[in-house]
Amino acid sequence: MLASTIREIRPEWSENIRYFDEEQLGEKGCREAVSKWLSEAHLGVVMLTTYTLTHHRQIQFCNDIRDENVVVIAGGPHVTLHPETSNADIVVRGEGVSAMRKIFSRENWTGSLDVEAPGMTTRIQNQNGDWVWPKFAHPSRKLNPDLWPQPSFAYDLIDKGVVHRASNKRRMGDLEPISIILSKGCPEACHFCTSGAQNGKWAPRSISRFKKDLAYLLMNRKVEALEFHDDDFLAHPELPQILEILQEIGVPWNCYARVNHFMDDGVSLAMRLAESGCMRIFLGLESMNNEKLEFFNKRATSDMNRVAVLSCYNAGIEVAAGWIIGAPNDTIQSLQKELEDFLNLPLYSLDVNILSLNPGSVHTKKVFTGKINLPTGQYESSDQQYIIDSGAIIPDIEKFGELEPWGQPTICENIDKVGLNDFAEHARNELHRILPIPIPHHIVRTQFLL
Ligand code: SF4
Repeated sequence: MLASTIREIRPEWSENIRYFDEEQLGEKGCREAVSKWLSEAHLGVVMLTTYTLTHHRQIQFCNDIRDENVVVIAGGPHVTLHPETSNADIVVRGEGVSAMRKIFSRENWTGSLDVEAPGMTTRIQNQNGDWVWPKFAHPSRKLNPDLWPQPSFAYDLIDKGVVHRASNKRRMGDLEPISIILSKGCPEACHFCTSGAQNGKWAPRSISRFKKDLAYLLMNRKVEALEFHDDDFLAHPELPQILEILQEIGVPWNCYARVNHFMDDGVSLAMRLAESGCMRIFLGLESMNNEKLEFFNKRATSDMNRVAVLSCYNAGIEVAAGWIIGAPNDTIQSLQKELEDFLNLPLYSLDVNILSLNPGSVHTKKVFTGKINLPTGQYESSDQQYIIDSGAIIPDIEKFGELEPWGQPTICENIDKVGLNDFAEHARNELHRILPIPIPHHIVRTQFLL
């Protein structure tokens, strides 16, 4: 999206922009490829997306790549919440489109990055010669998604060898979907999730902008399938019109959504989704235990999860889902019961994740304020104080170990980290043995799939 923004305002720089993927190239390979690309540049601008779990790699990358002629800008979820932990030259908090438009606009560009832009803060040298951060700009979170660049993404920059980290879940048979998005943020606020802190208030895009992105994709890319990357695709207020468009173009698709949409008439909704080409849906079920769903603030129950899964399955839509283990009251018995409940559902896949502390989430804030305590018997009170004093949830493998959640404590009272990891392995093996539950042949989906 940032590349597309720069191209929009400075088309003459289009050839100067590259995308490097660390997972594709490896840490060392990525650094070498970026250095090589910048070696001829008069001024190199490296923009890094930062995540909390890879924060240490960002620090290393920045140290290695920074040079007299190379400026590093860090953006993304981690520095939006914890900019003080970055060693970049500049941080941009929140969305970066507005900052790109300001920094690189024809009127502002003087050959340096010495401007003020939304969400942007530049590191400065103090009297002692130390690099310090001044007061940080507020995160930029208000950009209406209709003002994203057009097209929204510079799809052509992504090398064919880049593998999406969820590839095996995204691929639909032989079809490789291409991502598209119709909203920013999420209308809900689950307590483990960081979407609200990152994206601000949920806002959908207009149908006309959707049509433009779609037209661009169909004209310029080979579109085998679409993946709607919205946090909750079914929340879009103009869903019926979107489904009509999708049915008309006849391209299969998948999406992410919440189960509450299936409560009024889930059977009809699921049928309508299938008719318009939906082949798979990702539902964040998270648990089959109502108390736990309440702790997560999912605003859903295990019965709602069942209705949504069955409605979709009966309509011929594969359901991929997620399960979080490691809530404070989880026990081996309660998890085993949840596993059995999940296995009784006709799922395509179920990801098992151990609850982690995400930056800006309600759970993390409660750990900081002592409303959630690290389990006694597993951690010392000094461990919690250590997190509170650090002010950020930066993984520390020496203190909290390398098991999942990597470098973080768990908040499960009854099962320690080793026990949770053992259970996760057992559950994954069981799920691997049984899933996917195939969709029966008699379920007729859409005409173009026949
Ligand atoms: S977990 Fe999903 S539904 Fe809940 S707030 Fe995050 S994105 Fe929204």
